[in-house]
Amino acid sequence: MDQEAITRPASGPAQRLHCARCLYTTDHPLGLTLDAEGICSGCRIHEEKDRLDWSARWAKLEQLVAPYRSKSGENYDCIVPVSGAADSYWIVHQVKQRLKMNPLLVSYNKYYNTSLGIRNLANLRIRMDCDILQQNVNPKSVKQITRTTLRELGSLYWHCLAGQTVFPVQTAVRYQVPLIIWGAHQGLEQVGMFSHEHEVEMTRRYRKDHDLMGLEADELLGTFDTLKEADIWQYRYPDDAALNAVGVRGIYLGNYLRWDPKAQHEQMIAQYDYRTARYARSFEAYDHVDCWTHMDLHDQLKLNKQGYGKVTDHASREIRHGRLTREQGLALVRHHEGQAVQHSQLFCDWLGLDPSGLQFMLDRARSPRHWDSAAPGHYRFKGPSSDLPASPPWTAGDIGPGAKFIANDVFTHDGIEGYVTVGKGYR
Ligand SMILES: [Zn+2]
Repeated sequence: MDQEAITRPASGPAQRLHCARCLYTTDHPLGLTLDAEGICSGCRIHEEKDRLDWSARWAKLEQLVAPYRSKSGENYDCIVPVSGAADSYWIVHQVKQRLKMNPLLVSYNKYYNTSLGIRNLANLRIRMDCDILQQNVNPKSVKQITRTTLRELGSLYWHCLAGQTVFPVQTAVRYQVPLIIWGAHQGLEQVGMFSHEHEVEMTRRYRKDHDLMGLEADELLGTFDTLKEADIWQYRYPDDAALNAVGVRGIYLGNYLRWDPKAQHEQMIAQYDYRTARYARSFEAYDHVDCWTHMDLHDQLKLNKQGYGKVTDHASREIRHGRLTREQGLALVRHHEGQAVQHSQLFCDWLGLDPSGLQFMLDRARSPRHWDSAAPGHYRFKGPSSDLPASPPWTAGDIGPGAKFIANDVFTHDGIEGYVTVGKGYR
């Protein structure tokens, strides 16, 4: 495959400002600002990681969680949302081994599961000796929602984001376990929306504005006549009276310990046999191995709408941690972001969608800010990475050992192909 898998105009007027340190721009959908030195708010907040007294911050966390330990020993101490990837192992490890709490794990079934993700989740609950609740919303509703959000929002992930952010909160209310422990706050990590010292907590508002693209379940229902009450009620956030009666709060571990996903995952690989796999559209191999779409079709939609793919998030993070230079990061972005989607047929088969119908929706999602249409069906990419001068083509040898990611397995773990729509895992 070519080093550059997408067509770009030779040059164009800069439509946005680029951070002088990482690869984000003022186009970032979460919003970022540049200071007088041209450094973005995300990079500035990242500097706190090397400035804050993390042992004092951990002591603060110990104090914060103390009152939530079950006094009778007959209920859980907290709730931890998990999947077969992301930072699940790390969070449960901190909660069980360091805080010595007894968590109830909760997991929303996103249906796009790889067998590797099913294996990782089974291994997590067995190795960490935890109880788990899994939410399987009926596939008919999930598909109906996905048809609607794909067509209207260019998103096949709305139900995943809605489900994985609401199910832990519903469970907190139902089981009367008020404390939910999340990993890092995305707005803080990516764009420096808050300082670590703000100790920001989970809110209904952030979930709606950023996780759900501004549309709650009821607004989907009100806006699109393809959905019925029966399709969306399980995605409703509990009301304030229910939350207050239990005293539900959600905290972020990233405010209390120095967050470094690469180092964390590598410790989890060594300690608990977390398994990873290589995807085409990033050099990173740890974050989304449980899902056939996240780093594939979903990432193409992100590129079409927002002008950058997940590889830009990964590269910016690694630049901030000092493991990549900006030039190396840019070369990696340009190499990976346009790689062809490989697993769209799995999605079409699952949803009952014609590939040409999917292509139509992919093209409709292209933002004119990031794509020129030279002729019908032909597009040129003019997103953020196209503003910068091209660096020499990327080769694996360019990247130092500090920025290497281990792939110790494959998505089709045990040779199982396709979506594992419901899977319990091994043993
Ligand atoms: Zn930056």
